[in-house]
Amino acid sequence: MNQSNKNNLEFIKRSGVDYFLQETPRNWFEDTSKNQPKIKGHTNKNKEAKIEELVNNIKSHKTPLKNSAKNLVVYDGNLDAKVMLIGEAPGKEEDAQGIPFVGRAGQLLNKMISAINLKREDVYITNAVYWRPPDNRTPSDEEILEFLPFLQQQIDIVRPDFIFLLGGVAAKAILSTPLALGKLRGSWHEYQSLQLNKKIPTIASYHPAFLLRSPQYKKASWEDLQMLQKKLYEKD
Ligand code: URA
Repeated sequence: MNQSNKNNLEFIKRSGVDYFLQETPRNWFEDTSKNQPKIKGHTNKNKEAKIEELVNNIKSHKTPLKNSAKNLVVYDGNLDAKVMLIGEAPGKEEDAQGIPFVGRAGQLLNKMISAINLKREDVYITNAVYWRPPDNRTPSDEEILEFLPFLQQQIDIVRPDFIFLLGGVAAKAILSTPLALGKLRGSWHEYQSLQLNKKIPTIASYHPAFLLRSPQYKKASWEDLQMLQKKLYEKD
């Protein structure tokens, strides 16, 4: 980092800006609006009907998690998204509102999304598990497997160009690997869709709730987001 960038960063920090990209130089005067990747046009009605049917199937699926949760939480965002983000399971706030990633981790996720010039409405956000586990415990392997067919069906309906996995639970579900995120992150993987005859390029990176507890990993997370951003522009 050169001296003027260092001074710039110091100035921004002292101004009290708690910006996600703290560790990366940025041109604050650049007009980023023209850099927005093109988002596909109208929402496909067929997709809406399919996802509605899937939500109803998840709703009627019997699971003990329903006993303690308030609301079903399936997805938020754009059915025509190029990028699908997959988290772990709803927390307290998500359970109360029935929408994924609306609590503190969700606020950081929104910053991460806008850091790569996307809006929350441009991406599709879901989880590996759709009911809040009691006391926010990590979903068990059995629960991950139980809900995996619903996650796979969402991917087949949305047909994203890229998948970004947030945390170890999503990585376990989609990449079927016990490897730690430290080993998985930083490179591209492939998810082989069951229905679609295509492999979807996939990144596994840190969960925003983990980043809130361990901000020293934000730099690595930012590198993973930049890998995704680069591919998005290449495709446009
Ligand atoms: N953490 C998750 O993994 N998903 C949510 O929806 C909220 C917090």
